[in-house]
Amino acid sequence: MTPPDSLVGRGNEEGAALFRSWFEELGGVAERKQGAAYVFVMGSVVEILKSFDMPVVFPEIASLQTAIRRVAHEYLNEAEDLGYSPDICGYVKADVALQRRGGQHPMGTIPRPSIAVYTNACNTYIKWAEIWERMYGIPIVTIDVPGTRQAGCQTWPGERRFENDRRYVEGQLRELIATCETVTGQAFDIDKLRETMGHANRVSTCWARVLALNRSRPSLFNALTDGTIYLGVADGFRGTPEGTRYFERLVEELEYKAAHGIGTTTEERYRLSFLGVPCYPIFRRFNELFAEWGGTFVSSTYLWFASGGTNRDYQYDLADPIASLAEGLLLSVRDAMDSMFHPHTMVRQMIEDYAIDGVVFHPIKSCRTVSTGLADSRRALMEETGLNSLFIESDMMDRRVVSEAQLKNRIDAFFEGLASRRAQTLAAGGA
Ligand code: SF4
Repeated sequence: MTPPDSLVGRGNEEGAALFRSWFEELGGVAERKQGAAYVFVMGSVVEILKSFDMPVVFPEIASLQTAIRRVAHEYLNEAEDLGYSPDICGYVKADVALQRRGGQHPMGTIPRPSIAVYTNACNTYIKWAEIWERMYGIPIVTIDVPGTRQAGCQTWPGERRFENDRRYVEGQLRELIATCETVTGQAFDIDKLRETMGHANRVSTCWARVLALNRSRPSLFNALTDGTIYLGVADGFRGTPEGTRYFERLVEELEYKAAHGIGTTTEERYRLSFLGVPCYPIFRRFNELFAEWGGTFVSSTYLWFASGGTNRDYQYDLADPIASLAEGLLLSVRDAMDSMFHPHTMVRQMIEDYAIDGVVFHPIKSCRTVSTGLADSRRALMEETGLNSLFIESDMMDRRVVSEAQLKNRIDAFFEGLASRRAQTLAAGGA
């Protein structure tokens, strides 16, 4: 049996090690002057790309790493000097500067793209890929995934409208496979696809289990900090044996912590839910502003939409891989879009399960896709639940619009409100 002291915390260590190995591998690809498949977190379709042995780059992850490593401003400035507006997605601008620097990145060298594959989950994906098309003349493939047409009116497998949508997505996947054959010069191998999909199934099951395990009291991981490490592995290593092994070991760690009452913090006073994209320029400090009050993030919609809806634990049917891949893509990307656009409806379901005391809405300047509806979402959630909430604005890349002092003032006031509400509830004899 694994000794407990090596079990606790290994998910973070092994996640960081996997990340380093991934970037090292990409550095090798760049050195050999080979290209990589560029994909995005919402609907990456890595199952197909990895069945063609393509190295995969997630430009969103590469960009956010420049912010965590505190050099994003250098990249943003370079892109803005070229005429890119301060208002557009910071990930795009960091990537533009990275491409102009020949892939130079604080974690190594990122290879150039040989193909870009993306869904319509974010409109920026489409315009972003067009930049690479202009720079490198590579094929870019849009997969149009129908989303929810009307709140509460989603269709499901077996229903006529759903099956029409599934066939529509399946046709696009078959075209993607043909394009991959042209790009790689390799014939499509359906058994290899089955293999990657089998690994993706295991990662999906484990990812859903990881998220559910955080219902424990005390919570087992911080959804904003630890969760982002796990998320990176869920995206980057989906469909691989390394990803499967990592997540099986992570579940083992978290189950051990749950069984022994080992929390992520020694003092959990307030259980919070986070809605939006993290503040990467002051990633650790942002969390500390909450931790200082005993606040910990037990859930985050980021872990849903930025995993491309993997939280749904959709299981591919390996007997009919392409049709099943289309069905899984349809369900998971639709769920990711719903988590972004209507987060209150998703969070509403978990308030009781996760015993949430307050919700933090974090709209950011340069991601309109996620931020635009957050004010309405907050109003709706407060009307429906009366839960305490905080609405703070900053950015995921641009430190010029991150004011730690202002954030701290708002966060302190939020906790004072939570404390006073708790005191009133206790005085009234409530739980
Ligand atoms: S979702 Fe937001 S951060 Fe991601 S690519 Fe779209 S605009 Fe940029």
